[in-house]
Amino acid sequence: MSTFKAPKGTYDLLPPDSAKFLAVREAIAAPLRNSGYGYIETPGFENVELFARGVGESTDIVTKEMYVFETKGGDRLALRPETTAPVLRAVLEANLHKAGNLPVKVWYSGSQYRYERPQKGRYRHFSQVGAEAIGAEDPALDAELIILADQAYRSLGLSNFRILLNSLGDKECRPVYRAALQDFLRGLDLDEDTLRRAEINPLRVLDDKRESVQKQLGDAPLLRDYLCDACKAYHEEVRELITAAGVSFEDDPKLVRGLDYYTRTTFEFVHDGLGSQSAVGGGGRYDGLSEMIGGPALPSVGWALGVDRTVLALEAEGIELELPSTTSVFAVPLSEEARRVLFAKVTELRRNGVAADFSFGVKGLKSAMKSANRSGARYAVIAGERDLAEGVVQLKDMESGEQVAIGVNEIVAELESKLG
Ligand code: ATP
Ligand code: MG
Repeated sequence: MSTFKAPKGTYDLLPPDSAKFLAVREAIAAPLRNSGYGYIETPGFENVELFARGVGESTDIVTKEMYVFETKGGDRLALRPETTAPVLRAVLEANLHKAGNLPVKVWYSGSQYRYERPQKGRYRHFSQVGAEAIGAEDPALDAELIILADQAYRSLGLSNFRILLNSLGDKECRPVYRAALQDFLRGLDLDEDTLRRAEINPLRVLDDKRESVQKQLGDAPLLRDYLCDACKAYHEEVRELITAAGVSFEDDPKLVRGLDYYTRTTFEFVHDGLGSQSAVGGGGRYDGLSEMIGGPALPSVGWALGVDRTVLALEAEGIELELPSTTSVFAVPLSEEARRVLFAKVTELRRNGVAADFSFGVKGLKSAMKSANRSGARYAVIAGERDLAEGVVQLKDMESGEQVAIGVNEIVAELESKLG
């Protein structure tokens, strides 16, 4: 062990388990790629104000969870705690929204950083795959994203998850509801912090996980009863489109999200095998975000799915992803000359697209064959002095254990044909 350890709340992805993370990222990205979403990548840090304004001054993310630092040049930056605001910043900066082709549909994959209390499923560094559809107000777009996330989870074999759905209203009806909720909250027995929150952002009190708060919220007014006609019709359309696609969901009239910028459609994916960190993903419509960060009105919708928790969900359901062994051929040289000959064969195989590996370092036959086994290779190619003197190498089928001599000049073609 070295003197150093991974920082608190973080962990390393190591082979072979890391392959699962790649497979999860790939499984989430595949339906997006297939649906007109282009890949976007933004820096791991941004001007801190982007998050303060974009995510919201009163959110936990901004008040407690951000890694903020000042550069030598005096810039105040933050490691990104989420990627929706950065994506919108990038789209506005590049004027993608002016190219006359709305919505701009993009997906991303990357690290997020939040200074949280570490526990299972909650880390200070974690990874999300996300999708954003920017610049269109169309219930079909909200439905599309929910359907694609459902498809992604199902393609991984997950079934023990639920989709919770709600509407947060818009600038017409939300203020009316907000005032009613505030009135209600003022009458409760809440600590000072929570009362302050009720004044700044009362909807977020609904999201308070504490039992002492939750048990007082039973009679809280529900946004559902305050939605304006436009919001009601919009939400009904989203529900119908998802239902028609055969995707089941639950209406959750108390679902709000930790970020200030959500309007109308709001949803969360929860997995029932994860204990208290049950949200595997979430998202919704954020019609006001663009204006909050100085852009034009650009109604948008998106989601972010947590890769770490999705991997935990797979484990909770006992799902073993079928990860094809990466190495097909493993070469084991038993002499100096064989090293050169087999290294050249491995190089040739690789150039021809066959996944091949080599026994590096000076090893005896036994330990080299152990490496071959561990690599998961279907075939081993073994050669010593005597083989080469006869112009052959030994081709061993690692499944049957059968071994045959093949001409040195034939081995590459032979392996290619065997591996199809
Ligand atoms: P939570 O309520 O669990 O704190 P959140 O509302 O903060 O989640 P979002 O900001 O919506 O989460 O992020 C989307 C997804 O990213 C979450 O559903 C979750 O899977 C994942 N995620 C969020 N925070 C963490 C974290 N600290 N560690 C691991 N995954 C996380
Ligand atoms: Mg959180």
